[in-house]
Amino acid sequence: MKRPTILVLGAGYGGLSTVVRLQKQLGTDQADIVLINKNEYHYESTWLHEASAGTLTPEQVRYDISKVIDAQKVNFIQATVEGINIKEKVVTSSVGTHTYDYLVIALGFEGETFGIPGLDKYALSIANVKAARYIREHMEHQFATWSIEKEKDDSRLTIIVGGAGFTGIEFLGELGNRVPEMCKEFDVPFEKVRILCVEAAPMVLPGFDEELVTYAVSQLESKGIEFSIGTPVVEATPEGVKIKKGEDEFEFIKAGTVVWAAGVRGNRLIEETGIENMRARVKVDKDLRAPGHDDVFIVGDCALMINEEINRPYPPTAQIAMQQGDTCADNIVALLKGDPTTEFVPDLKGSVCSLGSDDAIGVVMGKKLTGKKASFMKKMVDNRALYMIGGVGLTLKKGKFDVL
Ligand code: FAD
Ligand code: NAD
Repeated sequence: MKRPTILVLGAGYGGLSTVVRLQKQLGTDQADIVLINKNEYHYESTWLHEASAGTLTPEQVRYDISKVIDAQKVNFIQATVEGINIKEKVVTSSVGTHTYDYLVIALGFEGETFGIPGLDKYALSIANVKAARYIREHMEHQFATWSIEKEKDDSRLTIIVGGAGFTGIEFLGELGNRVPEMCKEFDVPFEKVRILCVEAAPMVLPGFDEELVTYAVSQLESKGIEFSIGTPVVEATPEGVKIKKGEDEFEFIKAGTVVWAAGVRGNRLIEETGIENMRARVKVDKDLRAPGHDDVFIVGDCALMINEEINRPYPPTAQIAMQQGDTCADNIVALLKGDPTTEFVPDLKGSVCSLGSDDAIGVVMGKKLTGKKASFMKKMVDNRALYMIGGVGLTLKKGKFDVL
């Protein structure tokens, strides 16, 4: 009898966790596991703010997929997925077509611009490792240009960060450390630089613990970062952004760099599958299958699950994507054996938001943390993700041990 094919799309946290668990549980004769990913490497999306600011190199935030998969059991194909036809059970990619018996969609997130004019074209997004490298090089180019131009345009040295959610704040934390270094490297006086965070909501990190938010804002302000709160970005142009300051009051801020960190959506390919979705996120069944499609699992940022305690969706996080990967693998194995599937129940340990490599805020197991303790915890969380997917070897090679 033909072995069933399990096709996994995307080698981020959700996809890799699924594959690593499947390869542990299944023998070569039980299934053909196929993994498709755009690049030959996995990148740590949770470290992209560091690669974007330039506090880590692209090399430090990625590793070869071949290092964590068992080539005897998993056929890895480097290709870009171009279409998913769930009726015909065929996926098209840049290298051909791929059929499946079970499909796992783990294609991750894209930046959401909410249709705000100009943002897609003129703002940069911390979307993947190549985009992160571009942001770093763009800022460096602006600084280098300023230092040689005769008629100096100081707005080149203005960096605007749209959104004060976790991504925006973590990126600002890195900038707080990196910009003084860039000033030295490019002969730019620090006082000429302006770093401004523009947030639509009435507070930074909306919904997070207020005491911790106050700590974060004061730490970032002490590094020269400014905040404009309750002032949504309403337009971006090649020169900068327009923000709304009151009912009929707007301000245009010129800037050499605009980084848009004001929210995420699922991968656009989801919207073409015909599966009902909201911003390319599918409200999955409790066992992570797409409603009405028993052979399609969706994990990570393309999946949406409601936290019934508060009747709101769980936030899209790596923490949840990895746990979903494990449950998804278990459920596929169960189906192969003819056993019932199990419900996905997130085990949330808390959240930690870095403020540079030496500072952070967080709530872990209900306990509030700030400063070096929180920063240590963030590094342990980062190392744990490496360990869960690649074991001790990968953790020692790529982990963050500078505070141990
Ligand atoms: P991803 O990690 O985005 O992986 C998707 C994969 O699919 C990628 O490898 C991509 O290359 C591949 N892919 C995409 N399109 C295609 C295609 N067409 N063809 C082939 N391959 C494709 N969460 C936390 O829990 N803790 C944190 O500290 C944290 N920090 C974050 C910091 C930043 C700066 C950002 C941006 C996010 C952070 N998050 C954090 C959120 C977390 O990164 C995401 O929730 C997580 O990456 C989602 O995992 P995923 O597997 O769904 O997708
Ligand atoms: P987010 O949706 O959490 O935050 C986006 C912010 O942008 C919000 O504060 C929102 O009010 C603001 N915003 C929206 N429209 C705006 C506008 N027009 N002008 C100005 N501000 C605007 O998005 P995120 O920060 O990218 O995070 C995405 C997901 O990744 C979340 O689930 C988050 O928890 C997760 N994440 C986690 C960590 C961590 O755990 N350390 C780090 C980064 C991201």
